[in-house]
Amino acid sequence: MTKIPCNNMGTYNGRRSKFNFTQFLAIVITVMFIITVVLTFNLLTSDHCKCQSQDVSMEQIRYIPNKLAPYASPYKLAVLVPFRDRFEELLIFAPYIHNFLNAQHINHNIFILNQVDRYRFNRASLINVGYLYTRSNYDYIAMHDVDLLPLNKNLSYAYPKRQPFHVAAPNLHPRYHYEKFVGGILLVNREHFGLVNGMSNKYWGWGLEDDEFFVRLRDANLNVTRPVNITTGTNNTFRHIHDKNHRKRDTTKCYNQREITRKRDRQTGLHDVNYTISSIKSMTIDDAPLTILNIELICDHKLTPWCDCAEKKPDNKKISITKT
Ligand code: UDP
Ligand code: MN
Repeated sequence: MTKIPCNNMGTYNGRRSKFNFTQFLAIVITVMFIITVVLTFNLLTSDHCKCQSQDVSMEQIRYIPNKLAPYASPYKLAVLVPFRDRFEELLIFAPYIHNFLNAQHINHNIFILNQVDRYRFNRASLINVGYLYTRSNYDYIAMHDVDLLPLNKNLSYAYPKRQPFHVAAPNLHPRYHYEKFVGGILLVNREHFGLVNGMSNKYWGWGLEDDEFFVRLRDANLNVTRPVNITTGTNNTFRHIHDKNHRKRDTTKCYNQREITRKRDRQTGLHDVNYTISSIKSMTIDDAPLTILNIELICDHKLTPWCDCAEKKPDNKKISITKT
């Protein structure tokens, strides 16, 4: 009889002590769980904070001008650089112009229009391709030689709202001083470049495509404006990285190129530039981000046979064809 209560008690006591132990275990597990959760949360939070502050400081180091003062202008500039085989110049140009534009708080991107076909260089067609590629995302273009660096910080690259703006003005350019010169560096807004049907596609080899563009602008009543109140001159407003023996200008003329390219071209332009973009690459030179468009221009040999002046004879000897 006594065993029963004892047993009962024992069982009861046993159950109670089991219950207490389970309860104890549950409490310990819960407390440990809470501690773990709190610790993990703290660790995550502090890591997250560290990452963020690290990112911000890295960004601040790279883009100080943009971070300290947001872009003064809401307009986006596509810097279009016609390019072939000028890598040494590009290494200097890209970081320089990136910093120069950042200092003016110009929201910009640099596009290297790399001509990869085997025809003669065609600066104007490359600019047409660059414009077509960027026009839906950019408000204005800078047609920019890779070997010309603006030295005077007062040369503005601001949005040219009413008229194209010729940065490399003839009274400042180191080499070209005639009034109608619009080469080197020219800012044109998207609407104006479209209005004149871009540039002519007939200019293979060096020269005159910019003079023809001047006439297009004039015919559309667009008179270029130029920098004013610049105290530097032709020797110290720009750096022209161009050794004429090392970077020979392709002045060859063949077929009736000379005659045709002296005339205003009402036939070709943005609407008929024939090309493929074979690939697009991104790269960074120092802190300057670049987009490289590898462009294959396609020549209409009937219209502009001078896209290749050095045709091959059957015996594989090159001949230079002169004007016919
Ligand atoms: N260019 C190029 N590769 C060439 C020829 C020209 O990249 O083989 C580009 C480059 O941007 C250069 C611009 O076209 O700055 C104008 O050519 P160049 O410097 O020969 O003309 P310049 O204004 O000095 O007479
Ligand atoms: Mn040059």
